[in-house]
Amino acid sequence: MHCPYCRENRTRVIDTSHDVRGGVRRRRVCLSCNERFSTYERAILSSPLIVKRDGTREEFDREKLARGFRIACAKRPVSANDIDRLVGEVEATLQGMGKAEVPSRVVRDLAIAGLKGLDHTAYIRYAIVYLGLDDLNSIRDEIDHLLE
Ligand SMILES: [Zn+2]
Repeated sequence: MHCPYCRENRTRVIDTSHDVRGGVRRRRVCLSCNERFSTYERAILSSPLIVKRDGTREEFDREKLARGFRIACAKRPVSANDIDRLVGEVEATLQGMGKAEVPSRVVRDLAIAGLKGLDHTAYIRYAIVYLGLDDLNSIRDEIDHLLE
């Protein structure tokens, strides 16, 4: 850690405190200029790699998920904020799993469950594309299920 005043890299920790979110704040003093400053350290949550059906892996892509949601929600009473929130929820759930890799099916299931709670028409559209509800009977079953 370099001193922000003089760039010296020898500093001494004079106080350490933990915050409710699991972060650590350290009060430091520069051994060269004696200025004091604080540093804050917290874990950076990263999303697991997504294992696709063909076995290849890719980074979780927020934008790709949002794009799928936007297409499904076209002309539906769903705001850009709702879509943002949904993407954030899916991402937070993935990160919360604490796994290095998850199958893409998990992402789709989370996305579909979230969309189901938001807008039924958007949910059906999304499910048709991403679940491969490509025959009329399974689409009707799904709609019947929603109408129950
Ligand atoms: Zn300094």
